[in-house]
Amino acid sequence: MLKKTETGEHTDQDEETDIREKIEITLRRLQELKGRVAELKRRCEELRKIESEHTEQEGVENTLRCDKCGRALDPEQQVAVKDSDGLERSHYHKECFQTLFK
Ligand SMILES: [Zn+2]
Repeated sequence: MLKKTETGEHTDQDEETDIREKIEITLRRLQELKGRVAELKRRCEELRKIESEHTEQEGVENTLRCDKCGRALDPEQQVAVKDSDGLERSHYHKECFQTLFK
């Protein structure tokens, strides 16, 4: 009875050591993963930054103004006047562009 308990305790300790090792390995892996997650977050923020910069640039492009009336232009409504080099020089509303030739 007494011997049995001793053996039992011994096995328990072995298992405990085993579990502790496993926990340590798991914790180490967890730390690694945390490091990776932190790195991914950093990259994600960098990408978001780049994306927002792009959006801002697009925003500037979208706030084209009509050269005739000075109001904001809807990209679908605009008429672009190109120079001999093919560069867009002026932008007008379709209606405003038509009035130029009246
Ligand atoms: Zn206009």
